[in-house]
Amino acid sequence: MTTVPTEDRRDDADLEVDITTWLKEHWDPDLTVSQWWQRVGESGWTAPHFPISWGGRGYSRRSVAVVRSAFNRQGALPAPGGLGLLMAAPTILTHGTPEQIDHFVAGIYTGSQAWCQLFSEPGSGSDLASLSTRAERDGDKWIINGQKVWSSMAAGADYGMLLARTDPTVPKHAGISWFAFPLDQPGVDIRPLVEITGHALFNEIFIDEAEVSDADLIGGLNNGWSVTQSTLMFERMGIGAGGTMSAFPPAGVKGGILDLRVGDAATLKAPASGSKVLSLPELIDLAHEYGRSEDPHVRHKLARLVEFTRMGEWTARRTEIEMARGGGAGFANLGKLAQSRISKLSAELGCDILGLSSTLWDPDGPVSGRYAEALLFACASSIYGGTDEVQKNVIGERALGLPREPDPLKGTPFAERSQRIAALFGGDAP
Ligand SMILES: Cc1cc2nc3c(=O)[nH]c(=O)nc-3n(C[C@H](O)[C@H](O)[C@H](O)COP(=O)(O)OP(=O)(O)OC[C@H]3O[C@@H](n4cnc5c(N)ncnc54)[C@H](O)[C@@H]3O)c2cc1C
Repeated sequence: MTTVPTEDRRDDADLEVDITTWLKEHWDPDLTVSQWWQRVGESGWTAPHFPISWGGRGYSRRSVAVVRSAFNRQGALPAPGGLGLLMAAPTILTHGTPEQIDHFVAGIYTGSQAWCQLFSEPGSGSDLASLSTRAERDGDKWIINGQKVWSSMAAGADYGMLLARTDPTVPKHAGISWFAFPLDQPGVDIRPLVEITGHALFNEIFIDEAEVSDADLIGGLNNGWSVTQSTLMFERMGIGAGGTMSAFPPAGVKGGILDLRVGDAATLKAPASGSKVLSLPELIDLAHEYGRSEDPHVRHKLARLVEFTRMGEWTARRTEIEMARGGGAGFANLGKLAQSRISKLSAELGCDILGLSSTLWDPDGPVSGRYAEALLFACASSIYGGTDEVQKNVIGERALGLPREPDPLKGTPFAERSQRIAALFGGDAP
């Protein structure tokens, strides 16, 4: 079960003062990025929205954006973010042993290690539990073979949240395990996939006889589906709240900034593969700058965006409360669904404000083509973290109690699925 401790929470009333005072006392542009992130991570500011017992500051989800603005005002390099913070840390904190928590979570908070999510496969996206990457035990380690795809930011990652099949003799959901998988090893081939934006945010990964230690199996053997529900809930809740998906400086050695003077690193532009989701304050400033703030069309869309954004924050808060009671799945999905509307609406609005020049997608275009790129990327928001249709299915089944989709393969051992499909639908077993 996914629960986030709620007892060690604080009121947001002191947040501004808390972060501003801390930054005044601790910001030092002459540190290295690594030393700065050590300070930030150990003080709980990498995850201000996490409970204090999890190494956060116990504030609400809204605190992520407030803290981010305070760092910007101070001219300080923001805390590390990324998929490690969004998903791996809370999953390991929920399901890991004390040793696993010590081993992995500090590296995420201090930005020394970057993570990616190795869930989707060429034949398994929405039907994730049908995945076929295999893990076979060999003494105190596991040998991994298979292929993953659409793995965001994998090229810069040190670890992957790997789902692999550890028992093919049981039905599909029952034979999966969740591993903290080291990527820098022979047998792991990461190939970038270039998207419509011209960047390669995601990658395909070929895994051939690679290894992972049994000590890095998170949440128990063949319990990976339950652990995955937590990971997906944290992902959807995070995306829904918009917070941790915002552009962040790259963590890990491959990010290339750990040894820089942090004062210099703070002036670098956000990486191209960072968020393409436009923030509300950015769009309001843009409307003022381009003289469109009195335009009824622009004002109408801005008002809608404010509505959606506030609802996203409240839904995230409600999800946490429901999770503390042992539920919450449908709420995280509502937030994720809403965020795909926000991404599309904010990109459209940015382009509306700029007019035709928004389509100039080159360094000389407005804001270096950022709005054209945001518009192109916005369609992905209905796909990543689970498609809109899948979110609606989950909301229908788990929150509204509607009948589940019929599954003629229910209960079939994974190893016998091909024969069963052939028997049901005709043709040769694939
Ligand atoms: C920008 C981006 C980043 C991503 N990053 C990652 C990542 O880091 N790690 C990772 O593991 N994956 C990642 N993904 C993959 C993403 O999770 C999958 O693309 C997604 O789950 C859909 O799977 P699929 O592409 O195989 O589509 P399919 O599952 O084949 O779906 C095709 C279509 O059928 C619909 N459909 C499928 N099943 C149902 C159903 N039961 N009911 C109704 N409609 C259905 C879908 O909604 C969709 O429209 C990323 C994707 C994108 C676009």
